[in-house]
Amino acid sequence: MIKYEKFFSSLTRFMRASEIRELLKLVEKKQIISLAGGLPDPNLFPIEELAEIAKEVIKTYGKKALQYAPTKGVTVFREVLAKFVMKARGIKVSNIESLIVTSGSQQSLDIISRTLIDPGDVVLIELPSYLAAINAFKIQRPEFVGIPLDNDGLRTDILEDKLKKIKNEGKRIKFLYTVPIAHNPAGITMSTERKKHIVELAEEFDFLIVEDDVYGLLVFENVDTTPIKAFDKNGRVIYIASFSKILSPGLRLGYIIAEEPLADLFERAKQSMDLHTSSLSQFVAMEALRKGIIENNLPRIKERYRRKRDAMLNAIEENFPEGSQWSRPVGGLFVFAWAPEKIDTYKLLPKAIERGVAYVPGKPFFVDGSGSNTMRLNFSYPPEENIRKGIEILGKLLKEELSS
Ligand SMILES: *Cc1c(COP(=O)(O)O)cnc(C)c1O
Repeated sequence: MIKYEKFFSSLTRFMRASEIRELLKLVEKKQIISLAGGLPDPNLFPIEELAEIAKEVIKTYGKKALQYAPTKGVTVFREVLAKFVMKARGIKVSNIESLIVTSGSQQSLDIISRTLIDPGDVVLIELPSYLAAINAFKIQRPEFVGIPLDNDGLRTDILEDKLKKIKNEGKRIKFLYTVPIAHNPAGITMSTERKKHIVELAEEFDFLIVEDDVYGLLVFENVDTTPIKAFDKNGRVIYIASFSKILSPGLRLGYIIAEEPLADLFERAKQSMDLHTSSLSQFVAMEALRKGIIENNLPRIKERYRRKRDAMLNAIEENFPEGSQWSRPVGGLFVFAWAPEKIDTYKLLPKAIERGVAYVPGKPFFVDGSGSNTMRLNFSYPPEENIRKGIEILGKLLKEELSS
């Protein structure tokens, strides 16, 4: 037997398999209602339209769509995308060189991590935050400073206090990572005041903002969804977004909008990672944008998710024990719940799985080690009937735990 470990690089120590993925392996095998995933509802993929487009793209643009492409992305696609971002999110891309197409937001996060973080640098992050972002940043061994959320999003007053302290300690702050709209996992949307405040603080304390706007177009209530980028006059915001939740995650298409010196740096990092994102995916998305497929399909997605969210919220209301709290998300894919303090959602999970329902324990989402009584519940993927059944089982289990 070869001892392969001796060949591993030291970085691999920080590449732990996602704890959630490990747990989910259990679920896939059995007939279990999973509220643990984070998948879009595949019944909402515009399959017929994309089948047409894929065929047309290969026939019409085959020589380009099947060829190598520039690292920043297919130029005509970036032009169409820039127009879409302007129309849909009010973000003006004045220079196409500041727009980079990536292989999903995950790659955007990885690029940002590798190019901006040195070990010991301060990365400001929400409590809770997106696990895949935490893991992407962790590789570079930053010092995470967690900032709590309330119903208006990130607590900028606490952020300000922490910034003063960090500055006094002489530490270097690189960036704040935030999901301002329909936060994953917390389900919270940031108020306009807070968005402005964050930009002011970034100016005052000299750090960058990484804005993950993956759910900006997936909001089903009438709330203000202006991105932080819209308040950014001096290029502090690195804006990242994705086609995963509005078209298809399988295309692996995301993008970064940042000032040109940053974009050029990101381009260099991406070059050694994958040369460029799939040309074919870019051409398919370009035609989907040109034909208005995404805009036409979005109302259907939002309507379906709104109903599923309501099914989940109603079921929680009916079944969860007293002392529980939960988010009422205006968009996105998740409800986040706080069980009464005495519940350890990690320990409870095997029991829940035994009874036929899975969720994600919330603790890994908190960089400060808190959140042991929290859980993330997905409503986009399971059918409504399973949402109701799953929550009912979970509510009953929680009540039993509390009285035991
Ligand atoms: C789903 C999700 C993404 C999308 O990631 P991709 O790599 O583009 O599929 C990004 N950020 C958050 C917070 C998400 O929930």
